[in-house]
Amino acid sequence: MAKTVYIAGLGLIGASMALGIKRDHPDYEILGYNRSQASRDIALKEGMIDRATDDFASFAPLADIIILSLPIKQTIAFIKELADLDLKEGVIISDAGSTKSAIVDAAEQYLAGKPVRFVGAHPMAGSHKTGAASADVNLFENAYYIFTPSSLTGQDTLEEMKDLLSGLHARFIEIDAKEHDRVTSQISHFPHILASSLMEQTAVYAQEHEMARHFAAGGFRDMTRIAESEPGMWTSILLSNRETILDRIEDFKGRLDEVGQAISKGDEEQVWNFFNKAREQRQAMEIHKRGGVDSSYDLYVDVPDEEDVILRILELLRGTSLVNIHINEENREDIHGILQISFKNAQDLERAEHLITENTDYTVVVK
Ligand code: NAD
Repeated sequence: MAKTVYIAGLGLIGASMALGIKRDHPDYEILGYNRSQASRDIALKEGMIDRATDDFASFAPLADIIILSLPIKQTIAFIKELADLDLKEGVIISDAGSTKSAIVDAAEQYLAGKPVRFVGAHPMAGSHKTGAASADVNLFENAYYIFTPSSLTGQDTLEEMKDLLSGLHARFIEIDAKEHDRVTSQISHFPHILASSLMEQTAVYAQEHEMARHFAAGGFRDMTRIAESEPGMWTSILLSNRETILDRIEDFKGRLDEVGQAISKGDEEQVWNFFNKAREQRQAMEIHKRGGVDSSYDLYVDVPDEEDVILRILELLRGTSLVNIHINEENREDIHGILQISFKNAQDLERAEHLITENTDYTVVVK
Protein backbone atom coordinates (compact mmCIF):
# COMPACT_ATOMS: atom_id res chain seq x y z
CA MET A 1 0.00 0.00 0.00
CA ALA A 2 1.35 3.40 -0.95
CA LYS A 3 2.41 5.47 2.03
CA THR A 4 2.76 9.15 2.76
CA VAL A 5 6.23 10.13 3.95
CA TYR A 6 7.00 13.52 5.46
CA ILE A 7 10.59 14.73 5.40
CA ALA A 8 11.28 17.78 7.54
CA GLY A 9 14.51 19.47 6.46
CA LEU A 10 15.33 19.27 2.77
CA GLY A 11 19.06 19.68 3.26
CA LEU A 12 21.75 17.36 1.93
CA ILE A 13 20.57 14.43 4.05
CA GLY A 14 16.79 14.96 3.85
CA ALA A 15 16.72 15.58 0.09
CA SER A 16 19.08 12.64 -0.63
CA MET A 17 16.78 10.42 1.44
CA ALA A 18 13.79 11.62 -0.57
CA LEU A 19 15.55 10.56 -3.77
CA GLY A 20 16.47 7.18 -2.29
CA ILE A 21 12.90 6.55 -1.10
CA LYS A 22 11.47 7.47 -4.52
CA ARG A 23 13.89 5.06 -6.22
CA ASP A 24 12.25 1.99 -4.64
CA HIS A 25 8.81 3.46 -3.90
CA PRO A 26 7.80 5.71 -6.79
CA ASP A 27 4.16 5.39 -5.71
CA TYR A 28 4.75 6.85 -2.23
CA GLU A 29 3.78 10.46 -1.72
CA ILE A 30 6.64 12.49 -0.28
CA LEU A 31 5.84 15.70 1.55
CA GLY A 32 8.59 18.12 2.45
CA TYR A 33 9.07 20.85 5.00
CA ASN A 34 11.84 23.40 4.65
CA ARG A 35 12.37 26.75 6.31
CA SER A 36 13.94 28.45 3.31
CA GLN A 37 12.25 28.62 -0.06
CA ALA A 38 15.37 27.82 -2.09
CA SER A 39 15.54 24.14 -1.06
CA ARG A 40 11.74 23.76 -1.25
CA ASP A 41 11.81 25.00 -4.85
CA ILE A 42 14.70 22.75 -5.86
CA ALA A 43 13.13 19.68 -4.21
CA LEU A 44 9.81 20.29 -6.02
CA LYS A 45 11.39 21.15 -9.35
CA GLU A 46 13.64 18.08 -9.31
CA GLY A 47 10.73 15.82 -8.33
CA MET A 48 12.32 14.81 -5.01
CA ILE A 49 9.06 15.63 -3.21
CA ASP A 50 5.43 15.97 -4.28
CA ARG A 51 4.34 18.83 -2.04
CA ALA A 52 6.16 21.40 0.09
CA THR A 53 5.42 23.58 3.09
CA ASP A 54 7.16 26.08 5.37
CA ASP A 55 4.70 25.32 8.17
CA PHE A 56 6.00 22.17 9.88
CA ALA A 57 2.79 21.31 11.75
CA SER A 58 0.55 21.47 8.67
CA PHE A 59 1.70 18.23 6.95
CA ALA A 60 2.47 16.17 10.06
CA PRO A 61 -1.10 14.75 10.50
CA LEU A 62 -1.06 13.42 6.90
CA ALA A 63 2.02 11.23 7.30
CA ASP A 64 2.55 7.51 7.88
CA ILE A 65 6.24 8.14 8.44
CA ILE A 66 7.92 11.39 9.53
CA ILE A 67 11.67 11.86 9.14
CA LEU A 68 13.28 14.84 10.84
CA SER A 69 16.47 15.75 9.02
CA LEU A 70 17.42 18.91 10.85
CA PRO A 71 20.10 20.14 13.25
CA ILE A 72 19.92 18.32 16.59
CA LYS A 73 18.38 21.22 18.56
CA GLN A 74 15.65 21.68 15.94
CA THR A 75 15.01 17.93 15.80
CA ILE A 76 14.30 17.98 19.55
CA ALA A 77 12.08 21.06 19.22
CA PHE A 78 10.02 19.36 16.48
CA ILE A 79 9.68 16.13 18.50
CA LYS A 80 8.21 18.26 21.27
CA GLU A 81 5.86 19.92 18.77
CA LEU A 82 4.77 16.55 17.31
CA ALA A 83 3.70 15.41 20.80
CA ASP A 84 0.92 18.00 20.73
CA LEU A 85 -0.33 17.33 17.20
CA ASP A 86 -3.12 15.03 16.13
CA LEU A 87 -1.01 12.51 14.20
CA LYS A 88 -2.06 9.32 12.40
CA GLU A 89 -2.28 6.41 14.81
CA GLY A 90 0.92 4.33 14.73
CA VAL A 91 2.89 6.91 12.73
CA ILE A 92 6.64 6.24 12.73
CA ILE A 93 8.83 9.20 13.64
CA SER A 94 12.55 9.02 12.91
CA ASP A 95 15.47 11.41 12.50
CA ALA A 96 18.96 11.76 11.05
CA GLY A 97 20.90 13.49 13.83
CA SER A 98 24.59 12.75 14.22
CA THR A 99 24.30 12.22 17.99
CA LYS A 100 21.57 10.04 19.37
CA SER A 101 21.15 10.08 23.19
CA ALA A 102 19.77 13.62 23.47
CA ILE A 103 17.26 12.97 20.67
CA VAL A 104 16.16 9.55 21.92
CA ASP A 105 15.81 10.90 25.48
CA ALA A 106 13.63 13.75 24.18
CA ALA A 107 11.45 11.32 22.21
CA GLU A 108 11.02 9.08 25.26
CA GLN A 109 10.14 12.11 27.35
CA TYR A 110 7.68 13.81 24.99
CA LEU A 111 6.18 10.91 23.01
CA ALA A 112 5.71 8.29 25.75
CA GLY A 113 2.07 7.23 26.05
CA LYS A 114 1.15 8.67 22.63
CA PRO A 115 -0.05 6.35 19.83
CA VAL A 116 3.18 6.86 17.86
CA ARG A 117 6.37 4.92 17.24
CA PHE A 118 9.87 6.37 17.27
CA VAL A 119 13.24 5.13 16.17
CA GLY A 120 16.41 7.24 16.31
CA ALA A 121 18.62 6.97 13.25
CA HIS A 122 21.97 8.18 11.96
CA PRO A 123 22.79 7.71 8.29
CA MET A 124 26.57 7.66 8.36
CA ALA A 125 27.20 9.38 5.07
CA GLY A 126 27.51 12.97 4.09
CA SER A 127 29.85 15.61 2.89
CA HIS A 128 30.73 19.23 3.47
CA LYS A 129 27.94 20.21 1.05
CA THR A 130 24.58 21.44 2.28
CA GLY A 131 21.08 22.03 0.94
CA ALA A 132 18.78 20.23 -1.51
CA ALA A 133 20.94 21.36 -4.44
CA SER A 134 23.62 18.87 -3.26
CA ALA A 135 21.22 15.91 -2.98
CA ASP A 136 22.60 12.63 -4.29
CA VAL A 137 20.60 9.42 -4.68
CA ASN A 138 23.82 7.43 -4.16
CA LEU A 139 24.93 9.28 -1.03
CA PHE A 140 24.16 6.37 1.29
CA GLU A 141 25.33 3.57 -0.99
CA ASN A 142 27.07 0.96 1.22
CA ALA A 143 27.19 3.37 4.16
CA TYR A 144 26.07 2.34 7.62
CA TYR A 145 22.54 3.47 8.41
CA ILE A 146 22.36 3.19 12.17
CA PHE A 147 19.12 2.69 14.09
CA THR A 148 19.08 3.26 17.84
CA PRO A 149 15.94 1.46 19.09
CA SER A 150 14.31 2.54 22.35
CA SER A 151 11.15 1.85 24.34
CA LEU A 152 9.16 3.50 21.51
CA THR A 153 10.53 1.13 18.84
CA GLY A 154 9.18 -2.30 17.95
CA GLN A 155 10.56 -4.91 15.56
CA ASP A 156 7.82 -3.92 13.09
CA THR A 157 9.06 -0.30 13.27
CA LEU A 158 12.49 -1.34 12.08
CA GLU A 159 11.13 -3.62 9.37
CA GLU A 160 8.96 -0.79 8.01
CA MET A 161 11.86 1.66 8.09
CA LYS A 162 14.19 -0.75 6.31
CA ASP A 163 11.56 -1.34 3.65
CA LEU A 164 11.00 2.41 3.23
CA LEU A 165 14.73 3.06 2.91
CA SER A 166 15.68 0.06 0.74
CA GLY A 167 16.43 2.36 -2.22
CA LEU A 168 19.23 4.05 -0.26
CA HIS A 169 21.29 0.84 -0.64
CA ALA A 170 22.69 1.43 2.82
CA ARG A 171 23.81 -1.11 5.40
CA PHE A 172 21.32 -1.11 8.26
CA ILE A 173 22.59 -1.75 11.75
CA GLU A 174 21.14 -1.42 15.25
CA ILE A 175 22.99 -0.10 18.26
CA ASP A 176 22.09 1.41 21.63
CA ALA A 177 21.94 5.24 21.48
CA LYS A 178 24.48 5.79 24.28
CA GLU A 179 26.90 3.30 22.77
CA HIS A 180 26.46 5.02 19.40
CA ASP A 181 27.50 8.31 20.99
CA ARG A 182 30.51 6.72 22.70
CA VAL A 183 31.72 5.09 19.49
CA THR A 184 31.21 8.15 17.30
CA SER A 185 32.84 10.41 19.92
CA GLN A 186 36.04 8.42 19.48
CA ILE A 187 36.12 7.86 15.74
CA SER A 188 34.37 10.98 14.50
CA HIS A 189 33.78 13.78 16.99
CA PHE A 190 37.14 13.75 18.77
CA PRO A 191 39.15 13.63 15.51
CA HIS A 192 37.39 16.86 14.49
CA ILE A 193 38.59 18.52 17.69
CA LEU A 194 42.12 17.29 17.04
CA ALA A 195 42.15 18.41 13.40
CA SER A 196 40.92 21.89 14.28
CA SER A 197 43.35 22.22 17.23
CA LEU A 198 46.25 21.18 15.04
CA MET A 199 45.19 23.64 12.37
CA GLU A 200 44.91 26.46 14.86
CA GLN A 201 48.22 25.64 16.51
CA THR A 202 49.92 25.66 13.11
CA ALA A 203 48.32 28.92 12.03
CA VAL A 204 49.51 30.67 15.20
CA TYR A 205 52.98 29.13 14.87
CA ALA A 206 53.19 30.18 11.23
CA GLN A 207 52.84 33.83 12.26
CA GLU A 208 56.38 33.61 13.59
CA HIS A 209 57.60 30.76 11.42
CA GLU A 210 56.37 31.71 7.97
CA MET A 211 57.79 28.66 6.16
CA ALA A 212 55.40 26.39 8.11
CA ARG A 213 52.75 27.46 5.58
CA HIS A 214 54.84 26.37 2.63
CA PHE A 215 56.31 23.13 3.96
CA ALA A 216 52.99 21.63 5.06
CA ALA A 217 52.39 18.64 2.75
CA GLY A 218 50.57 15.30 2.47
CA GLY A 219 50.63 14.18 6.12
CA PHE A 220 49.53 17.58 7.37
CA ARG A 221 46.82 17.77 4.73
CA ASP A 222 45.46 14.32 5.69
CA MET A 223 45.47 15.22 9.39
CA THR A 224 43.66 18.53 8.94
CA ARG A 225 41.24 17.87 6.07
CA ILE A 226 38.22 17.72 8.35
CA ALA A 227 39.09 21.07 9.94
CA GLU A 228 37.22 22.52 6.93
CA SER A 229 33.90 21.05 8.10
CA GLU A 230 30.83 23.17 8.71
CA PRO A 231 31.26 24.81 12.17
CA GLY A 232 27.53 24.91 13.04
CA MET A 233 27.05 21.18 12.62
CA TRP A 234 30.11 20.32 14.71
CA THR A 235 29.19 22.76 17.46
CA SER A 236 25.80 21.11 17.80
CA ILE A 237 27.33 17.62 17.71
CA LEU A 238 29.90 18.38 20.42
CA LEU A 239 27.45 20.15 22.68
CA SER A 240 24.95 17.30 22.47
CA ASN A 241 27.58 14.70 23.43
CA ARG A 242 29.50 16.62 26.08
CA GLU A 243 30.43 14.08 28.75
CA THR A 244 31.61 11.44 26.33
CA ILE A 245 33.78 13.92 24.42
CA LEU A 246 35.28 15.40 27.59
CA ASP A 247 36.20 11.86 28.59
CA ARG A 248 38.02 11.37 25.25
CA ILE A 249 39.85 14.71 25.66
CA GLU A 250 41.08 13.75 29.14
CA ASP A 251 42.16 10.33 27.93
CA PHE A 252 44.09 11.90 25.07
CA LYS A 253 45.88 14.40 27.31
CA GLY A 254 47.22 11.40 29.24
CA ARG A 255 48.49 9.82 26.03
CA LEU A 256 50.24 13.02 24.95
CA ASP A 257 51.88 13.31 28.37
CA GLU A 258 53.08 9.72 28.13
CA VAL A 259 54.77 10.16 24.77
CA GLY A 260 56.10 13.54 25.92
CA GLN A 261 57.77 11.89 28.91
CA ALA A 262 59.28 9.16 26.74
CA ILE A 263 60.75 11.82 24.42
CA SER A 264 62.03 13.87 27.33
CA LYS A 265 63.76 10.79 28.80
CA GLY A 266 65.17 9.96 25.36
CA ASP A 267 63.65 6.48 25.74
CA GLU A 268 64.21 5.19 22.22
CA GLU A 269 62.46 1.87 22.78
CA GLN A 270 59.32 3.47 24.20
CA VAL A 271 59.11 5.98 21.36
CA TRP A 272 59.65 3.24 18.76
CA ASN A 273 57.00 1.08 20.40
CA PHE A 274 54.61 4.00 20.42
CA PHE A 275 54.85 4.38 16.65
CA ASN A 276 55.01 0.67 15.92
CA LYS A 277 51.92 -0.16 17.98
CA ALA A 278 49.91 2.55 16.24
CA ARG A 279 51.07 1.34 12.84
CA GLU A 280 50.05 -2.26 13.60
CA GLN A 281 46.71 -1.15 15.03
CA ARG A 282 45.94 0.97 11.98
CA GLN A 283 46.82 -1.82 9.59
CA ALA A 284 44.50 -4.17 11.49
CA MET A 285 41.55 -1.74 11.42
CA GLU A 286 38.91 -1.88 8.71
CA ILE A 287 39.21 1.77 7.82
CA HIS A 288 39.70 1.19 4.12
CA LYS A 289 36.22 -0.18 3.69
CA ARG A 290 33.51 2.34 3.06
CA GLY A 291 31.78 2.68 6.40
CA GLY A 292 31.29 6.27 7.23
CA VAL A 293 31.52 9.83 6.14
CA ASP A 294 33.73 10.47 3.17
CA SER A 295 35.45 7.11 3.09
CA SER A 296 36.05 5.65 -0.34
CA TYR A 297 37.85 2.94 -2.25
CA ASP A 298 41.23 4.18 -3.38
CA LEU A 299 43.54 3.03 -6.09
CA TYR A 300 47.01 4.43 -6.70
CA VAL A 301 48.78 4.29 -10.05
CA ASP A 302 52.47 4.97 -10.34
CA VAL A 303 52.40 6.86 -13.62
CA PRO A 304 55.44 8.43 -15.31
CA ASP A 305 55.52 12.18 -15.85
CA GLU A 306 54.54 12.01 -19.53
CA GLU A 307 52.15 13.91 -21.70
CA ASP A 308 48.55 12.62 -21.74
CA VAL A 309 49.27 9.77 -19.35
CA ILE A 310 46.37 10.67 -17.05
CA LEU A 311 44.01 11.11 -19.99
CA ARG A 312 44.96 7.62 -21.15
CA ILE A 313 44.07 6.12 -17.78
CA LEU A 314 40.78 8.00 -17.64
CA GLU A 315 39.98 6.79 -21.14
CA LEU A 316 40.42 3.21 -19.91
CA LEU A 317 38.01 3.93 -17.08
CA ARG A 318 35.27 5.31 -19.31
CA GLY A 319 31.95 4.08 -17.91
CA THR A 320 33.31 3.48 -14.39
CA SER A 321 32.10 6.12 -11.95
CA LEU A 322 34.85 7.88 -10.02
CA VAL A 323 34.25 9.94 -6.91
CA ASN A 324 37.59 11.72 -6.90
CA ILE A 325 40.86 11.99 -8.69
CA HIS A 326 43.97 13.40 -7.14
CA ILE A 327 47.46 13.97 -8.38
CA ASN A 328 49.92 13.65 -5.51
CA GLU A 329 52.62 16.27 -5.90
CA GLU A 330 55.30 13.89 -4.71
CA ASN A 331 55.58 10.15 -4.45
CA ARG A 332 56.69 9.38 -0.93
CA GLU A 333 56.62 6.32 1.27
CA ASP A 334 53.25 7.20 2.76
CA ILE A 335 51.76 7.67 -0.72
CA HIS A 336 51.51 4.71 -3.04
CA GLY A 337 51.45 6.34 -6.45
CA ILE A 338 51.27 9.71 -8.13
CA LEU A 339 47.73 9.27 -9.43
CA GLN A 340 45.10 8.53 -6.79
CA ILE A 341 41.61 7.60 -7.98
CA SER A 342 38.74 7.09 -5.56
CA PHE A 343 35.67 4.95 -6.25
CA LYS A 344 32.40 4.64 -4.45
CA ASN A 345 32.28 0.87 -4.22
CA ALA A 346 34.45 -2.23 -4.33
CA GLN A 347 33.13 -3.40 -7.73
CA ASP A 348 34.19 -0.18 -9.48
CA LEU A 349 37.57 -0.35 -7.78
CA GLU A 350 38.14 -3.96 -8.86
CA ARG A 351 37.06 -3.17 -12.40
CA ALA A 352 39.46 -0.22 -12.59
CA GLU A 353 42.33 -2.21 -11.14
CA HIS A 354 41.75 -4.92 -13.72
CA LEU A 355 41.51 -2.48 -16.64
CA ILE A 356 44.65 -0.56 -15.76
CA THR A 357 46.79 -3.65 -15.04
CA GLU A 358 45.60 -5.36 -18.25
CA ASN A 359 46.23 -2.37 -20.48
CA THR A 360 49.33 -0.68 -19.04
CA ASP A 361 52.67 -1.53 -17.41
CA TYR A 362 52.11 0.84 -14.50
CA THR A 363 52.19 -0.36 -10.91
CA VAL A 364 48.74 -0.29 -9.37
CA VAL A 365 48.28 -0.33 -5.59
CA VAL A 366 44.92 -0.79 -3.91
CA LYS A 367 44.72 0.55 -0.36
P1 NAD B 1 21.87 20.82 5.73
O1 NAD B 1 22.49 22.08 6.24
O2 NAD B 1 22.08 20.44 4.33
O3 NAD B 1 20.32 20.84 6.05
C1 NAD B 1 19.82 21.24 7.29
C2 NAD B 1 18.33 21.43 7.19
O4 NAD B 1 17.84 21.92 8.45
C3 NAD B 1 17.90 22.44 6.14
O5 NAD B 1 16.74 21.94 5.55
C4 NAD B 1 17.62 23.70 6.96
O6 NAD B 1 16.66 24.52 6.34
C5 NAD B 1 17.06 23.09 8.22
N1 NAD B 1 17.19 23.95 9.40
C6 NAD B 1 18.32 24.41 9.98
N2 NAD B 1 18.04 25.13 11.08
C7 NAD B 1 16.68 25.15 11.18
C8 NAD B 1 15.77 25.73 12.08
N3 NAD B 1 16.20 26.45 13.15
N4 NAD B 1 14.44 25.54 11.88
C9 NAD B 1 14.00 24.82 10.84
N5 NAD B 1 14.82 24.24 9.94
C10 NAD B 1 16.13 24.40 10.12
O7 NAD B 1 22.37 19.69 6.75
P2 NAD B 1 22.32 18.10 6.62
O8 NAD B 1 23.70 17.66 6.33
O9 NAD B 1 21.22 17.68 5.75
O10 NAD B 1 22.03 17.69 8.15
C11 NAD B 1 20.76 17.33 8.64
C12 NAD B 1 20.94 16.40 9.84
O11 NAD B 1 21.67 15.26 9.42
C13 NAD B 1 21.75 17.03 10.98
O12 NAD B 1 21.21 16.62 12.22
C14 NAD B 1 23.12 16.41 10.84
O13 NAD B 1 23.78 16.28 12.09
C15 NAD B 1 22.76 15.05 10.27
N6 NAD B 1 23.83 14.39 9.51
C16 NAD B 1 24.63 15.10 8.67
C17 NAD B 1 25.64 14.46 7.97
C18 NAD B 1 26.56 15.23 7.05
O14 NAD B 1 27.71 14.85 6.86
N7 NAD B 1 26.09 16.28 6.42
C19 NAD B 1 25.81 13.07 8.11
C20 NAD B 1 24.93 12.37 8.93
C21 NAD B 1 23.94 13.03 9.63
